[in-house]
Amino acid sequence: MPCLNMSDPPSHPQEKLPDPLVDVAARCVSCGLCLPRCPTYRKTLNEADSPRGRIVLMQGVLEQRIPANERFLAHIDLCLACRACESVCPNNVEYGRLINGVRGVVEKTRQRSLWQLMGRRVLMDGVATKPAMLRLVGGVLRTCQAMLGQAGWLMRSPLAQIATRLPRLRPQPIWKAIYPAAGKERGEVGLFLGCVARVLDVETLTASIFVLNRLGYTVHVPSRQGCCGAMHAGLGEPEKVSEFEEQNLRAFAGMNLEAVISTATGCGAALKNYPQDFAGRVKDISEFLGEAEGWESAEIEPLAEKLVVHEPCLMRNVLHCQGKPYDLLHRIPGAEVVPLAGNDQCCGAAGTYFLTQPEMAASLLADKIEAVKASGAQILATSNIGCAMHLAAGLKASGIELEVVHPITLLARQMGFQNDKN
Ligand code: SF4
Ligand code: SF4
Repeated sequence: MPCLNMSDPPSHPQEKLPDPLVDVAARCVSCGLCLPRCPTYRKTLNEADSPRGRIVLMQGVLEQRIPANERFLAHIDLCLACRACESVCPNNVEYGRLINGVRGVVEKTRQRSLWQLMGRRVLMDGVATKPAMLRLVGGVLRTCQAMLGQAGWLMRSPLAQIATRLPRLRPQPIWKAIYPAAGKERGEVGLFLGCVARVLDVETLTASIFVLNRLGYTVHVPSRQGCCGAMHAGLGEPEKVSEFEEQNLRAFAGMNLEAVISTATGCGAALKNYPQDFAGRVKDISEFLGEAEGWESAEIEPLAEKLVVHEPCLMRNVLHCQGKPYDLLHRIPGAEVVPLAGNDQCCGAAGTYFLTQPEMAASLLADKIEAVKASGAQILATSNIGCAMHLAAGLKASGIELEVVHPITLLARQMGFQNDKN
């Protein structure tokens, strides 16, 4: 087993960390049961890139025995926060809480380049969390997509590089506050739009409203909702996470909602960290529809295709509802629904991970592409827009023509949903 080098003296003073994090780390009994589930350990076979090794390192930093130096940060940064380790831990180590907490503390003393700092602020605070800016950027990217192939010079621009990696962008609707149930109302739900999804995954959101309405659910879309905070949590910015939490709690307050529906598992997992009276009502769209009524009158057209299902990490390891998309897809007559081999391993998208750790992300993606090829499927279904984009880009780069789509969108299409009309 490779050694962890903890002999360096602290390079700069560490903040005194809150005790709860020390207690979380102390729960690890070093049994190693999590190691075979860790994607980064499986790739590097380095104990310092395993959950157990990282916990030892974080404990060292928490107790100020080792510095949060570059070597420490490299192992912490390589963690996908996929929480596969947490889901198998017999001693209930809250690894997700630990890594996000430690990232938050070391971020305060971490030296970053001016470009990194500006990139973060512009992307995270100037664009990703501002609906008006997202609408503008989405419009520019959509124009870019429409012009690709017509203007050669455009293909060489950075915008074109981004636009070619994205799914075909749809016009962003002006979201209504309420989408009433079709026919007799069975209940009322709220829809969480997300910040990335409202620009890049309009089809999934509108398909969700379509199916919910058809089953008799009125859908509320509060205009003042914001980002879920997942990206900021992963980048160690807990104060920002709290701001978003307050904003969303206010936005959904005072409504008699049976559930708050999330269509992206990354957002759903983040919303589960909100106060219990809100978190308890958060449901992934597949989970909610799995328990919903009204299916007896739904007309669903057959689809004679093989569908392979990718299970996003946070759906498996946090939401624990990875079986629900299969239940939805099995409602489509004629569809053959199979799991993607290696679903217990992350695809490498992991929020902004594919940008910050491109080598590991590409290596994990390559495994998924091989699994998709071996499946012989015509359609790949996944419940997270980040995974969908990462997988679609990998398939495209490998010359594989295969649609990547959310399960609810597939089902909605078979129920008569047409994105440009509904
Ligand atoms: S499974 Fe849990 S207790 Fe065992 S090494 Fe991993 S984190 Fe520690
Ligand atoms: S969160 Fe994922 S990548 Fe990080 S240590 Fe756990 S299993 Fe490994």
